[in-house]
Amino acid sequence: MGLPEHVSSVAPGVWRIRVPLPGSPLRNLNSWVVTSDGQALVIDTGFNMPECLEAMKSGLAAIGANPSRTSFMLTHMHSDHTGLVGRLAAPGTDIFMGRLDAPFMDPGMNWWNPMVDYAVQNGFGRQQISDALASHPGIKFHPGAIGPMKLLEDGDSITVGDRELACVLTPGHTPGHICLYDRQARLLFSGDHVLGDITPHIESWAYRFNALKCFMSSLEKIRGLDVVQALPGHRGTIAELGPRIDQLVAHHAARADETVQVLAGGCMTAYEIASRMTWDVRAPSWEQFPITQKWFAVGETIAHLRWLEDSGRVRRQIEDGIARFCVGE
Ligand SMILES: [Zn+2]
Repeated sequence: MGLPEHVSSVAPGVWRIRVPLPGSPLRNLNSWVVTSDGQALVIDTGFNMPECLEAMKSGLAAIGANPSRTSFMLTHMHSDHTGLVGRLAAPGTDIFMGRLDAPFMDPGMNWWNPMVDYAVQNGFGRQQISDALASHPGIKFHPGAIGPMKLLEDGDSITVGDRELACVLTPGHTPGHICLYDRQARLLFSGDHVLGDITPHIESWAYRFNALKCFMSSLEKIRGLDVVQALPGHRGTIAELGPRIDQLVAHHAARADETVQVLAGGCMTAYEIASRMTWDVRAPSWEQFPITQKWFAVGETIAHLRWLEDSGRVRRQIEDGIARFCVGE
C-alpha cells in the first residue's frame, strides 16, 4: 500500500502524520498514531484549521484507522497539539489529557486576563498586548468546546490493543505536559518536552510557576528511560535522548548567563532584557519582530529570570506596577 507523502511508518504499529502549521515557525506538527489489534491512538492533532484537518483526515484514512476505534491523547494544551480533537474524535471515543492542562481547554476559562496584567508589569504596552493576543495561535486555533476527557495522572497507562503506554508527567513546557512511554517498543512520545532540532519553548506568565525549574527536573525524570527513539511533537526524531537532554540543559544555563550579562547594563524590565538578547528569529531587529514572536521571547526571558531569582543571581523590584530585574540578591 502506498502511503501519501505526509504519512510514514516509523516502527511496527507506529505512524507519523506530518501536519502543516501554516504561518508558524514550527512548520509542522508530528501527529503520532499507535495501532494495535484494530485500535488506534492518535497523539496530538494540529491547529483547528482546514489545512491541518485535511492532512489528519487523509493520514488517518491511509493508515486505515477505524474512527469508532480511534482514541486521542493530547500531550499538552497548546492549540497546535489540541486544535482538531473536537472535529476528529467520533462521539463516545476516549480523549485523554493530563489533569493539570485540561482546564485550559475550556473556552469559557478566563486565563488571558491575569496574563495581560502580568505582561503590563513586565514592560509590554497595552496596545502591543492586544495585538499579541489577537494573533496568538492559542486563541485563533483553539479547539472550542469538546466533550468530557479522561484525565491522566503521572504513572497512569493507556492501552491500545496489546500495547501499553505509560504516562510520564513532565511539567515545564506547560504545567501538565505528559509524555507517553512504550516500554516494550522502547519508544518515548515526547510531545514538546524534548525536541530534536529546536529547543522547546519554556515561558512563564505567572509568578507561581517556575517553568524552567520544572522543565529541568522533568528532563532528569526521563533521562533514565530505556529508549531507542524519542518521537517529538515537531521536526525530526531523536536517536539519542541522553545527549539531547545534556544539550538542552547546557542551552538554558547559557541563556541564563546571557540574561545576567545583559543586566550588567543596569536594572531592566523583562521586555527590555528580551530586546537585548539574541534570538533565532528571521527579522533584522527586535523592533521588526512579529508581535507574537516578541510575546514568546519575553515569556521565555521571564522564565529565565524567575529561575535566576530562585538561585539568588537576580532580584526583582516592583515600583508603580512595573517589575525591574537587577543583578544580585
Ligand atoms: Zn507546545
